Amino acid sequence: MTIALKLYDTYTRALRDFEPLDPAAVRMYTCGPTVYNYAHIGNLRTYIFEDILRRALEFNGYAVKHVMNITDVGHLTSDADTGEDKMEKGAARTGKTAWEIAEIYAHAFKEDLQRLNILDPSIWCKATDHIAEQIAFICCIEDKGFCYRTDDGLYFDTSKLSDYGYMARLNLEGLQAGARIEMGDKRNPTDFALWKFSPKDKQRQMEWDSPWGIGFPGWHIECSAMSAKYLGPFFDIHCGGEDHISVHHSNEIAQTEVCHGTRLANFWMHGYFLQLDDAKMAKSSGDFLRVQTLLDRGIDPLAYRMFCLSAHYRSKLNFTWDGLDGAATALNRLRASAFEWGAPGEADAGFIERFTQCVNDDLNMPRAMAVVWELVKSELPPAVRKATVLVFDRVLGLRLAEWHPAEETVPAEIMALVEQRTLARKEKRWKDADVLRNQVITAGYEIEDKPGGARVRLRKGA
Ligand code: AMP
Ligand code: ZN
Repeated sequence: MTIALKLYDTYTRALRDFEPLDPAAVRMYTCGPTVYNYAHIGNLRTYIFEDILRRALEFNGYAVKHVMNITDVGHLTSDADTGEDKMEKGAARTGKTAWEIAEIYAHAFKEDLQRLNILDPSIWCKATDHIAEQIAFICCIEDKGFCYRTDDGLYFDTSKLSDYGYMARLNLEGLQAGARIEMGDKRNPTDFALWKFSPKDKQRQMEWDSPWGIGFPGWHIECSAMSAKYLGPFFDIHCGGEDHISVHHSNEIAQTEVCHGTRLANFWMHGYFLQLDDAKMAKSSGDFLRVQTLLDRGIDPLAYRMFCLSAHYRSKLNFTWDGLDGAATALNRLRASAFEWGAPGEADAGFIERFTQCVNDDLNMPRAMAVVWELVKSELPPAVRKATVLVFDRVLGLRLAEWHPAEETVPAEIMALVEQRTLARKEKRWKDADVLRNQVITAGYEIEDKPGGARVRLRKGA
């Protein structure tokens, strides 16, 4: 059974059959968090989509080399390189140093990934650990004549690249005509900073020497430089949220095109936004929904993962508490069913094929979930259903194998009776087993024999 894996590529605006550039491993880069605050559940929708993509690749038998960066310098409050540095601003907000908050929020981010069962990348890389690589990359762009200097930094001249903004299908003339944003000394509205100078009157917490003067790298160069270092100048898949299409990724492509002559990645994939009707979603707003907010409300973070599976990654998803409640109920139903099915037997090939078709159809998870529910309702033997759902869970990532119902505290003497009864049954001493069962019932408990073993609980009304 080979079912081609089709993925939507933003660059060509087409569904394309995925083939790895190098059969040894798929090379994938995902833009990571800017660690000036906690991640909100919107950010995490994008990381869940990328995790499903990674798992789908592995499900298709590919080894994946996955790199994720941590932006701990250079991202300004406006993606267009104006405003304050988010890290220095975050430091002022918290009374800590920029270095300290980078550490704190990167750690919190990794914890969120674990809570959502998002697989760790093969390589984490921090922008501040790769200043030399970024400077070398900028030198390469400078040597090719694509930069100019202003009072506040070194800029990439986008007008010199004939297809700048192709992926976003940017209307450059329209942008030029309608440029209302403060351009400063920039020559074109789409030009962006490669290196920013530290202010003359004060010392920044994060700054480095460079051939152009003391300062810090622009936000976009880190991804071009680090992806080239770990994955080479042309690799399989680059992803991020939809907001990256028009600025950040367009700029990454421009830099790499000039320096290496490639469009950086064979596939460009983007997750669409999670929207909240009234509550604010922006990390910069200070008041936003985090994984911790869900935990504080007694909600399992995996219910949020389940909620994300209900929409295709290329459509916006509206967040509502009712929707999340529904996802939590559905998840518990699925878990309880999988638990009751007991030990796995052999998986059902027909179901696996149908599930794979949905996953390989540009990660159509809503349809894949419909197949999951059909399996739940099917008449297949429990052991077959169990084995099949565990195969599905390699992509779903709902930790179905680990889950078990919350145990009521059954006193040790009752558990001892139950164990004696289990032994009696094993040894076919049926009378003894019955006596022991009656003792348990008299004590106010009941025993249910499940494929996975005997379950004891307080008798209703006892
Ligand atoms: P940041 O930490 O701001 O650099 O963003 C981290 C990731 O979250 C990026 O890939 C963004 O595109 C993505 N992102 C930001 N807001 C949302 C949202 N509301 N829904 C989904 N993804 C988002
Ligand atoms: Zn990036």
